[in-house]
Amino acid sequence: MTQTSLPIHRLPLPSTTLQTKLAQLPLSDQPSSQRRSTTFKPSSEGVWARLNPLWAPWPIRLTKEEALELGVDVDKGQQVNVEDVLRRWDPVDVQNDEAENGLKVMSSGHRLKFEPILLGISPSALKDSLPHLDVGDAVKLCNDDIESSPAGVETKEGQARESFIDILSGRKVIASSGEDSKTPYGPWSTRYCGHQFGVWAGQLGDGRAISVLETQSEEGGRQEIQLKGAGRTPFSRTADGLAVLRSGVREFLGCEAVAALDIPTTRSLALLTTPFPNLPVTRENGPEPSSLLCRLSPSFIRIGHFEALNPGKDARNMRQFYMGGRGWLDDQSEGENEEGNLEGLRSLAEWVKVDIMGMKDASFKEWVEEVIRKNAEMVAKWQVYGYMNGVINTDNVTLIGATIDYGPYAFMDVYDENHICNHSDPSGLYSYRNQPSRILFALDKLVAALAPVIGYDAIHSLVPVGYSEGASKDDIKSWEEKSKEVMQGWEGRFRDIEKDEEKKGWLRRFGLQTFQNSDNRDIIYDYMSLLHAHSLDFHSSFRQLSSFKPSRSSDSEYLSSFTSDLIKSTTTSLPSDAAEAAERAFSSWLKVYAARVMQDGEQAAWTKAGGEEGRLREMKAINPRFVLRQWILEEVIEKMEKSLTEAYTSVEAKDEVDEKKVENGIKDARRELVKILDMSTRPFEPWGECESSSENIEEEARLCGLGKKEMLGFQCSCSS
Ligand code: AMP
Ligand code: MG
Repeated sequence: MTQTSLPIHRLPLPSTTLQTKLAQLPLSDQPSSQRRSTTFKPSSEGVWARLNPLWAPWPIRLTKEEALELGVDVDKGQQVNVEDVLRRWDPVDVQNDEAENGLKVMSSGHRLKFEPILLGISPSALKDSLPHLDVGDAVKLCNDDIESSPAGVETKEGQARESFIDILSGRKVIASSGEDSKTPYGPWSTRYCGHQFGVWAGQLGDGRAISVLETQSEEGGRQEIQLKGAGRTPFSRTADGLAVLRSGVREFLGCEAVAALDIPTTRSLALLTTPFPNLPVTRENGPEPSSLLCRLSPSFIRIGHFEALNPGKDARNMRQFYMGGRGWLDDQSEGENEEGNLEGLRSLAEWVKVDIMGMKDASFKEWVEEVIRKNAEMVAKWQVYGYMNGVINTDNVTLIGATIDYGPYAFMDVYDENHICNHSDPSGLYSYRNQPSRILFALDKLVAALAPVIGYDAIHSLVPVGYSEGASKDDIKSWEEKSKEVMQGWEGRFRDIEKDEEKKGWLRRFGLQTFQNSDNRDIIYDYMSLLHAHSLDFHSSFRQLSSFKPSRSSDSEYLSSFTSDLIKSTTTSLPSDAAEAAERAFSSWLKVYAARVMQDGEQAAWTKAGGEEGRLREMKAINPRFVLRQWILEEVIEKMEKSLTEAYTSVEAKDEVDEKKVENGIKDARRELVKILDMSTRPFEPWGECESSSENIEEEARLCGLGKKEMLGFQCSCSS
């Protein structure tokens, strides 16, 4: 490591922070206000609310003994005050003296009772995003690489590991302490609204995401460290703010698999759980073990954050309906203030433009065009790698064009452009084919929300603080009109960038350095049609193609054995006549492809890059051998759930729990996770492709397989 690294609580803050740049939402400082669902009016300027992680069951469980500790005897009919119950978690005790960043490590006796278990850590996220973070022996612990026992807390290694686990579990909190602190700082959640499945959904917000720190390093840039599944926030609505193991494992691995394919994404740093009986998370199928994911991104600001500040007509026409309530929630109507908060809109736009995206000198229009470009490039890469997000709601689309929110996502198995990976999307609004147009839909909502700022800037070449003060409806309308005028044609530009980026991606996957118009049809379209018509696997077909030698295509024996191998490795089982038909169709396409690759211009381009061998090497470096398929996720989740619960579910009473079994279960769960993480982060390695055979190699080869037929195109009915 070139940079000196520091334990998490000592990481430096960036020169600007979200909390110093953006307004805070009005929340009372009663402990319950951090946990009570609160709908903020569109006119309130704030973006974020201060609160502390609370990785505890919800509703809160309180034993009689705990009530007694609070001085309440329930048997005598005395009442427990919810504020007293919640106050036990207030991090008021200073654990460490001030670090270089001016913050303190705080906790409380009750908070220290959390028993976090670190399940996994991503070495590549650590290296890419937080190279200045010292995690002690945490990576070794997760790799089961520790000879006897983990480093003691008296050692530097042990301290760094413990600090990492404490902060990531919320057992301890990094914050400025005391009222007199000049720049108060501490964990926070943000407010956003959004369109879900095309319909205005009102306020959503970070219902289970709590950010704990921002930091910056030379190589890793600005990073926000966020916990997902860390408990109730004011945006949790009716839910518990928690996450089940299944959803944590899916996101932990999904982010890192997507990053390894060079698709922009939020990253996963670590995954934690806690002993099953302490925190069972109840979902459709009963209690499941919990998870807490730590994810990283330069920013988690989504389109929905802007919609919250300027909700527009959709929001005015549709007030939120309270299920089971007595009708419309009236205090959401705002009369004169329905325009939202244009000052908050300006400051949020400025924050993302300048502090996050480094575009100080650009106009707001240029910045929005950049946001559009980044998202167009992102979705193009999704298409090229068959990544399906599953829920492209406007609250799941970021300003920096990073893939976010790994819910029912999937990688394409058998190629079908109409494939729908989300069980709850029967009409296929977010099908593979529709992804670019749904990103466009989301961007349209962003352009609409930002219209006053873009338009004002276009007229005055500057949007000063207080620009909207005293503005009439007509003024605002004229800014919006101006925005329409300057943004005109952006949809076409989005489509062009998206198509162009896709084209580049496809050409690389086919190992072509030059482009001809006929490639769209003869190479790309025909190939995809073949995969679809014969139900062949998307990724393994490309990997097979990365061994095809066009120079030998006139050798009919070579062609026929290549085709037959290709069909075998891209299907689970095909009746022999279907396999023959597929082989015939493929070999005619391969002839066209070979002729294309052998053309002079194309050959000349490859001569400089190592000829045919060099070309195949390059194809293998971008066509993955390992794909994080649904069957793999299901398998690893099932094994981890079993390992983490068996010691408890196999006994009748608490005191029968075998601690050794618990410990071994944790080790098994880590081992399962690290194996798949390793393959996900190095997907192009020749896993299991070795000539010799061993148990390991066979296992790798199995994990690179298509899995059982019934798991192809599997839709996850993901409990979250
Ligand atoms: P998602 O589908 O993950 O984008 O979530 C949609 C909204 O529901 C977001 O505001 C989430 O923060 C919120 N949400 C999802 N799951 C939970 C949960 N278990 N507890 C609280 N809020 C949640
Ligand atoms: Mg979301």
